[in-house]
This record gives sequence, C-alpha cells and structure tokens, in this order.
Amino acid sequence: MRKELFGLADRLAREHRLELDEYRALIDGRAPEITAYLADLAVQARKRIYGNTVYIRGLIEIGNVCKNDCLYCGIRRGNTSCERYRLSHEEILACCREGYTLGFRTFVLQGGEDPFWTDDRLCLLLRAIKQEHPDVAVTLSLGERSRESYARLKEAGADRYLLRHETADATHYAKLHPKELSFDNRMRCLTDLKSLGYQVGCGFMVGSPYQTSSMLARDLQFVEQFAPDMCGIGPFIPQSDTPFRHEPAGSAELTCYLLSILRLIRPNFLLPATTALGTIHPGGREMGILSGANVVMPNLSPASVRAKYALYDNKLSDGSESAQCKDELTQRMRSIGYEVVTDRGDVKPIP
Ligand code: SAM
Repeated sequence: MRKELFGLADRLAREHRLELDEYRALIDGRAPEITAYLADLAVQARKRIYGNTVYIRGLIEIGNVCKNDCLYCGIRRGNTSCERYRLSHEEILACCREGYTLGFRTFVLQGGEDPFWTDDRLCLLLRAIKQEHPDVAVTLSLGERSRESYARLKEAGADRYLLRHETADATHYAKLHPKELSFDNRMRCLTDLKSLGYQVGCGFMVGSPYQTSSMLARDLQFVEQFAPDMCGIGPFIPQSDTPFRHEPAGSAELTCYLLSILRLIRPNFLLPATTALGTIHPGGREMGILSGANVVMPNLSPASVRAKYALYDNKLSDGSESAQCKDELTQRMRSIGYEVVTDRGDVKPIP
C-alpha cells in the first residue's frame, strides 16, 4: 500500500491527473512519509515556475450584508448577532490607496451577496480603482451573479473572480446550503466566469460537515477538470452563531496535504495559504507555503470593521494577517526561505 501511494504521487507529479479512486486512496492513506513526499514534489513543482516568490493580495472585505443563509457562514442572513456594515465607494478607494503605497498590486474585493452592490455601483468602483492604479489587478469575490453582470464587471476592469465551488458533490452541497441555493447555479457561475475570460478561482472548505474522503476526491477531480487559475482552500472553522456551531473544525494538516496534491494537479496555478489556515494553526501560513501554496492575502479592510467580517470564530486579522504589518509577513516568509514580491501576481506559463 505504502509503495502504491508513492507511485501515485510520482504519477501525479508527472501527469497532473489521477483517477477518482486514486485520489481517494491518497487521501485515505495520509501518513507522515507520504505527506513529506508530496510536499517535496509540490514545492519543487512550484519553484520551477515561481522560484521562491510569494504573491500578496490586499483583501478588502467590502461588506458583511448577505442575502444568503449558508449554514456554515457567520455572515449568513439568519445571524441576528452579526453587526452589519458596508464600506462606501470612498472608503474602498482609500483602502486601495493605502494598499498601493504598501506595495500591493492586487486588490481582492470580497463580501456577502448584497443587492446594494448593483452592476452600476460596482462598475463605477472598478473604473475608479483602475483609473487611479492602472497597474493593479482587481479580483472580485462577491458570489453568484448573472452572466450579464459578470460580463459588465469584466468590461469595467475586473480581472479575476473567486467563487469557491464549496463542494463538487451536489448532495453534499445541499447539506451545506439552504434550498434556494443550487449546486447547478454555482457551476453555471463558474463556467460563465471562465468563458468570459476571467482568471477564475474555485475552492472548498476542508473538514466541512458531512464531508467524506470520496467527496474530497471529487473536489480534486473537479479542479483537475475545470482547470481554474486559482484555488482557495481552508479548514472549515465553526462559527458560534450558525447551525454548525458544534461541528468540529477541519485540520491544518489535511489542508496542507491537499494543497500539495492541488499543486501537482495544476503546477502553475495560484494557490493561497488562507486566513482560515493561519487561524486554525499559528504557523498555518508558513505550513501552507511549505506545502506548495504561493499566495497570501493579508487584510486591508479598515481596522474598525475587521471583527465584523466574522465568517468563523477567532478569525485572524491582525499581526501578519494585516496588510499594515507587511514587514512582519515578509520576515516570516523570509524565515522559511521565501520572498514576498510587489507584483500583480498573474499565473505564469509552465516553462
Ligand atoms: N459571498 C461570496 C461567495 O459566496 O463566494 C464571498 C464571501 S464568502 C463568506 C467566502 C468564503 O468563506 C466562502 O466561499 C466559504 O468557503 C468561506 N467560509 C465561510 N464560512 C466559513 C467557515 N465557517 N469556515 C471556513 N470558511 C468559511
């Protein structure tokens, strides 16, 4: 069995694909030796394309108003304990200005699905950001919208879109979401985004309630087949005002193991060591980079609203998670042999 797993890892590094039951065997067979082996292969693959560079993105959480009621999420509509906020056009521009001065060349605008953010308002905002900073990339992460809306936002200057698929198993999707949200629409959004020419990111939570290794194998196979430019994965962390408050959190170790496998599936894609990974483990971001991740997304939101974007309990937003503490992040990355760079951080071709 042990020998078989090492063979699978080698084949994955060579061919960037496995069968569904082979992904499941890798997940079920997780043990220290194969973990180290996969991480080593993943780091080599990433270094061949990105050297020792780490890309940074300034994350601006533009608001926590959400019309959805996802069972895992702290900003779900049904959470009456959540103090809602919405940043203004000017406040968002001020975040970008500060971020630009700090050396960020990608801004990620993330928020709940809030009907306030009409296409007109977002297009105005995108044009203003691009006019002030023509050399930055703007990533949106604002949930499900129509194809027409995605097209208008792209035209106004959006470069990338992050929309985690959350799970590639439709039955599992239905257990994590209210019935008005559908797996098919999530997939439709991802397909539309890709066909419109966005750099697209999908992703999923590790250890979400009801998740099995077969489901994770489907997630890996989905990434292989959808071929995104980015993939955001992080451990599920319970939030005390949600129906999943008593569910156990996902682990940093399994998240890192999956990061290594993902890097081998898509050697040149953009793979963040997420805030959730840094929250569940004090060295999570470093562990993520050492497993094959190449992106970190420190928080650039105004300090006054950070605690309100509480997707899960104890979410980090200060120290090296804060854009203002970029030097600390730079030092932490340097201590493991990596360099934070000032760069838009686009996908590089495989040499
Ligand atoms: N509304 C947008 C969307 O649906 O893509 C973006 C915001 S949403 C809050 C961003 C991501 O946070 C989700 O895709 C989900 O994977 C993650 N998230 C939400 N609750 C979480 C939790 N309890 N633990 C870990 N990640 C969580």
